[in-house]
Amino acid sequence: MNADEIQALLNEPACAHNNKSKSGCARPKPGATQGGCCFDGARNALLPIADVAHVVHGPIGCAGSSWDNRGTRSSGADLYRRGMTTDLGEMDVIMGGGEKRLFRSIRQAIDSYSPAAVFVYATCVPALHGDDIEAVAKAAAARFGVPVVPVDAAGFYGNKNLGNRIAGDVIYRHVIGTREPDPVPEAARRPGITTHDINLIGEWNVGGEFWNVAPLFDELGLRVLCTFSGDSRFREVQTMHRAEANMVVCSKAMLHVARKLNEDWGTPFFEGSFYGVKDTSQALRDIARLLDDPDLTARTEAVIAREEAKVEAALSPYRERLADKRVLIFTGGYKSWSIVSAMQDLGMVVVATGTEKSTEEDKARILELMGPDARMIADNDQRALISTFHETGAHILVAGDRYIYPTLKSRIPFLDIDHVRAIGYAGYEGMIELGSNLERSLSSPVWEQVRVPSRWSSERAA
Ligand code: SF4
Repeated sequence: MNADEIQALLNEPACAHNNKSKSGCARPKPGATQGGCCFDGARNALLPIADVAHVVHGPIGCAGSSWDNRGTRSSGADLYRRGMTTDLGEMDVIMGGGEKRLFRSIRQAIDSYSPAAVFVYATCVPALHGDDIEAVAKAAAARFGVPVVPVDAAGFYGNKNLGNRIAGDVIYRHVIGTREPDPVPEAARRPGITTHDINLIGEWNVGGEFWNVAPLFDELGLRVLCTFSGDSRFREVQTMHRAEANMVVCSKAMLHVARKLNEDWGTPFFEGSFYGVKDTSQALRDIARLLDDPDLTARTEAVIAREEAKVEAALSPYRERLADKRVLIFTGGYKSWSIVSAMQDLGMVVVATGTEKSTEEDKARILELMGPDARMIADNDQRALISTFHETGAHILVAGDRYIYPTLKSRIPFLDIDHVRAIGYAGYEGMIELGSNLERSLSSPVWEQVRVPSRWSSERAA
C-alpha cells in the first residue's frame, strides 16, 4: 500500500469530523500505536469471518496469542479461532525466503483445513523486506483454486483505526460483489410479509451479543445478508452489495465500506448502536425508515412497544438499586457514548467517560448525552484513572480488561466492557444482562470485607 492510498483512506468524506479538517485524520505520533498497530486493527476487523484461514505473514511475535484471539462468537465454523503464522525467522530475512514461506503456508492452511478463503496479513518485517504479498496471493489462488486475499496493513503504516479502514477497503476491493445471494428459502417466507435484505457493518458479535437482536430481525422479515464481520462467512461477505440498507454499528471503523456501497450500489446507510433500550429502538426505527415500507414500519413499532414493555418490567428491580449510582466509564471509540446512553437508561449518573480513540463526532455525542460540562478522559494512565474515580465520588468503574487488576487491587467495583469479553450487552436482552451484572458487582459483599482495615494497618491502629 503506498502513501497516496493510505492518505485516501485517512481522508474519509462520510466522516463529519474528517470533513472539518483539510488533511483528514491525524497521522499517528510516536507511541500512538499503543493499544494496537495497523496490522492488529486489520486482523481484528476481519478475524470474526469464521470460515477463513487467517495467516499472519511475519515473526511469531506479531501473531500474539494463537488461539481464540478475538472475543467474537460464531454459530458454526470455528477456523477463525486458530492462529496461523508464517513464523518468519532471521534466515528468511537474510536469505530472502519470505515469499516462498508464505506460499507454502497458504498451501498448508488449504490442505489442512479446506477454508472458504485464505486471508494473508502483512506485518512490519515482510513489508520492510519488500515481500510482494499481492503477487503471492494471486499465484496461490490460481494454483489452489481458493480465494486468497492479501491484507497489506503492516504495523508501521499507522494506528489500529487505519488498520480497520484498510481491512474494509481490502474486502470492498477483493470480496464484496463476487457472488450473488441465495434466494430466500420457501420455508423462510411469510405470507403477506416482504423480506428485506440488510447488512450490519462493524457488528462484531462480541460475546455473542448480536444473537440478542437477531430474532427481532427474523420476526420483522429482515434477512441479514452479512454481519460484517461478527459470525459471518466468506460467502455472506461476497453478497453484501445486494443489501437494500446498511447499518454501521461500530460507528467509524467501517464507514468507508458503507460509503462505497452507497456510491457504487446506491445502498442507503445510517450509524446506530444496539447498546441501551433507546438506541436499540432507534436502530430498528432507522432500518424501517431506510427501507421505506409502511407495513414494516408499523410492525417495527409494535415490536418496539412489546420489547420495551418487557425490558422495563425486567429492569425495574435493577433500576431501583442502580438509581443515582455514580459510574466512571473508560472505554474508547463509539462505546464512549453508546455505553453512556446505556448507563443513563438504567438511571445511573455518568461522572466521566474515556475518549481514547474516540473521534470528534463521538465526543459531540457524549456532549449531547452528558451536557456541556461532560468530563472526558483521553489519558489512559491507570493511576490517574483511579484518582479520578475517587475524586468524582464514583461507585463503579466500567472499562476494558487491562484495567481489571489495578481496579480490583484498589478495591473498586468493576465491570468489564472490553471487546474480547465473554458476555454480550447488546439489544433489549443485553440491557437486562448489563443491569444484572452492574448490580451484582456493586452489591457484592466482598467490597465491605476487603475495605475493613487489617489488624496490622496504621489506619486501624489509629
Ligand atoms: S505488525 Fe509491526 S507493530 Fe504490529 S505487532 Fe508486528 S512488528 Fe509490532
